[in-house]
Amino acid sequence: MDSEFELASQYAKDLESFTIQDSLRFLWEKFPHQINFSTSFSLEDQVITHEISESQFNIGIFTLDTGRLFPETYSTWERTINRYALTIKAYYPEAPSLEEFVERNGPNSFYQSVDLRKQCCHIRKVIPLNKALVNTKVWISGLRSDHSEQRKDLKILEWDSNHQVYKFYPVFFWTENELRKSINSHGIPYNILFDKGFPSIGCAPCTRAIKPGESMRAGRWWWENPDQKECGLHETQSIQ
Ligand code: SF4
Repeated sequence: MDSEFELASQYAKDLESFTIQDSLRFLWEKFPHQINFSTSFSLEDQVITHEISESQFNIGIFTLDTGRLFPETYSTWERTINRYALTIKAYYPEAPSLEEFVERNGPNSFYQSVDLRKQCCHIRKVIPLNKALVNTKVWISGLRSDHSEQRKDLKILEWDSNHQVYKFYPVFFWTENELRKSINSHGIPYNILFDKGFPSIGCAPCTRAIKPGESMRAGRWWWENPDQKECGLHETQSIQ
């Protein structure tokens, strides 16, 4: 087993019992100036942004602007930078690849096949993410264990050999109720779509509200088979 995998599982044992603030300190001491957090302005990410803003560490925050986000997501982004007076770096798809893809397949080709959907996610998310993670040693993300069956198998800290980074999930064991409690008690800005049946929010054309009894990710790429529902961002060895 590679040393990074061993180190990740060793650190994970410590991190499981730490508060988020203690976890950020622990990781910052080991990887100063090499920690980056990707936000999509979900409830999870808003709680993490709040915690980062309360910490004394200069942790980078970035987002992937696919160009197809909901207006409500842009509004949450705006309210977040105003509330915390922080900078969120935005990464965009490379124009030539996107222009060629849309010209060849049309603006909504993701509905036609899984392959075209994955190509769209690759251009709009995966390539910008790879750019964002340059010089990063720890990638903070808002994944939670109860998001999906696939994500239950993750650990709070993992080694991602695809991106050559440690991935840290600060709210991994939190429930949605705990997130909402934290959002309410700290007055954290959040996406109002969460109050309208959207527990998981991605691009507007690929996300719908869920119906009572459906799983929280049922509204993402709802026309596809559930086994195919990852966009490529979190396809580490553990969750492929
Ligand atoms: Fe394209 Fe939909 Fe993927 Fe967004 S979620 S990048 S619109 S396929």
